[in-house]
Amino acid sequence: MTQATDATTLVGRGNNDGARLFREWFEGLGAAADAGRPSAYVFVMGSLCELLRVFDLPVVFPEINSLQTAVRRVAHEYLNEAEDYGYSPDICGYVKADVATQLRGGQLPMGKIPKPSIAVYTNACNTYIKWAEIWERMYKIPVVTIDIPGTRTEGGQTWPGDPDFENDRKYVEAQLRELIPMLEQVSGVKFDIDRLREAMGHANTLGRGWKRVLELNRSRPSLFNALTDGTIYLGVANGFRGAPEGAAYFTELVEEMAYKAANGIGTLTDEQYRLVFVGVPCYPIFRRFSEMFTELGGTFVTSTYLHFASGGANLGYEYDLARPIESLAEGVLIGVRDAMDSMFHQTRLIVSQIDDFAVDGVVFHPIKSCRTVSTGLADSRRALLAARDVPSLFIESDMMDRRVVSEAQLKNRIDAFFEGLASRRAQAGSRPAAD
Ligand code: SF4
Repeated sequence: MTQATDATTLVGRGNNDGARLFREWFEGLGAAADAGRPSAYVFVMGSLCELLRVFDLPVVFPEINSLQTAVRRVAHEYLNEAEDYGYSPDICGYVKADVATQLRGGQLPMGKIPKPSIAVYTNACNTYIKWAEIWERMYKIPVVTIDIPGTRTEGGQTWPGDPDFENDRKYVEAQLRELIPMLEQVSGVKFDIDRLREAMGHANTLGRGWKRVLELNRSRPSLFNALTDGTIYLGVANGFRGAPEGAAYFTELVEEMAYKAANGIGTLTDEQYRLVFVGVPCYPIFRRFSEMFTELGGTFVTSTYLHFASGGANLGYEYDLARPIESLAEGVLIGVRDAMDSMFHQTRLIVSQIDDFAVDGVVFHPIKSCRTVSTGLADSRRALLAARDVPSLFIESDMMDRRVVSEAQLKNRIDAFFEGLASRRAQAGSRPAAD
């Protein structure tokens, strides 16, 4: 193929295929809702999709559904409905949008979602546990918390072979073994370890691809915008984990990114500043938020979001299919623990991103309605500035609630940040060489 043909077929394929997969996924959920089929409600940090697929349970990710209401600019209707019902304006906006969705019989702008038959989740965010209790009350369904031991001290992770790690792994494994008969009961499908192996094989391919895609964005110019394109890839990484479509998607995405890297095709035609994004995106003005950076030559080469919101899939951990349940426990422990570290001990991660991606600036984005990710970001910023001499911006808004998103205020702060980046670069250029 000629370069032009390759460019026509390859560049942008990941975004197009991601959108198509999402449409198909929602069509499937709509069909399950109409047929009254059982479904599993899960969250992105430790979804256990590999295991749930063995039981033919359609997976519903309420976080993804909620953020989609914000991207489609109707979140305020859902938030108001939940607040009128009695939920506080202060709590996680995703929860409130989901409550309103349930009150509407599962109706969302993208289609209809089935009611839950079971909820399976981890302790990665404390909101998960209280959120699932809402479904427990509404639908009288079993809710299962898989308790994942976190990192005890920053940098103090243990790994396979270490007695502490093995104790934690056994603890997770015992919980997974208890979950299996519950899933059999809810779904009416018998557990089949070979189907689990198959799903885990697909998850291995997906994880390998996701890790590689993230690494390839070290290219200069960078190949995708972590905030916009990256969120599409992230959605596929979560929704299609353990599915053949997810494995194929990431194999092809690596191909697209490798092609762009080899041919110097960047996400911006004139990349000036390479940035890291810390926190959860501003979904109510999703495109515009990103444009306020790209219009000034800045692009997000990576983010903490692509790490924690993929439940640790960024690590590319590969399951050992010869011992599926033990290895599933190991992978879930390593992945979810990494996701928690990317939220709670993120300074190490950001420092490594600054070094690996040749970063010019870091944007901290604490938001009103996600305390889990936002609490402590001011301290993280201070710790980062002690570790690296890097310009940083601290801007506050929300991931769901447009009432606390002031575009004009954000723009002022972002413009000033870029002025600082430009003058820093000019000073560096005029500074005499050290030797
Ligand atoms: S991590 Fe934040 S946005 Fe996600 S469920 Fe927890 S509180 Fe809500």
